Amino acid sequence: MREPVTAYLGLGANLGDARAAVAQAIQDVAVSAGVALTAQSALYRTAPIASSGPDYINAVVEVHTVLSAPALLQCLHGIEAAAGRARPYRNAPRTLDLDILLFGDSQIASPHLTVPHPRMGQRAFVLVPLAEIAPHRVGAQALQAVSEQAIERIG
Ligand code: ATP
Ligand code: CA
Ligand code: CA
Repeated sequence: MREPVTAYLGLGANLGDARAAVAQAIQDVAVSAGVALTAQSALYRTAPIASSGPDYINAVVEVHTVLSAPALLQCLHGIEAAAGRARPYRNAPRTLDLDILLFGDSQIASPHLTVPHPRMGQRAFVLVPLAEIAPHRVGAQALQAVSEQAIERIG
């Protein structure tokens, strides 16, 4: 049995009942085999960046998992599919998006998985909820760098 790894997942949705989709996804993560939910941020509302459509609902969760990082990604893709995720074009509005932000201290660069998530440092909708539950994983300078981006905590 693998030692559990602490990983952080980013959740986002901006189609349909986005708030319900994110809440459901957190439940789906919590009951996934090999995954234990150990912390969750508040929900946040953000305007689309490099994207279009309604505002996003975002959150970050912490999990302890005995899955490998690729297996965890596969699990997340299954949850996205169940929520009706389609990928018509890059940055399209979506019913649910689940990204692996951090996987322990692993650095992964494979064709299907890059960890830490390569764009997380540019995104307030990732860094603000991540800092809420894992302040030790987000530097003050990183938060400062995205402080111009509007983000509203909605509880
Ligand atoms: P972004 O990566 O900029 O947040 P996105 O989430 O909209 O964009 P998707 O269409 O959801 O992009 O994912 C495209 C592919 O990215 C996935 O099929 C997956 O293989 C790959 N990928 C690479 N690294 C990661 C990661 N850390 N978490 C999730 N998916 C990843
Ligand atoms: Ca994403
Ligand atoms: Ca994604």
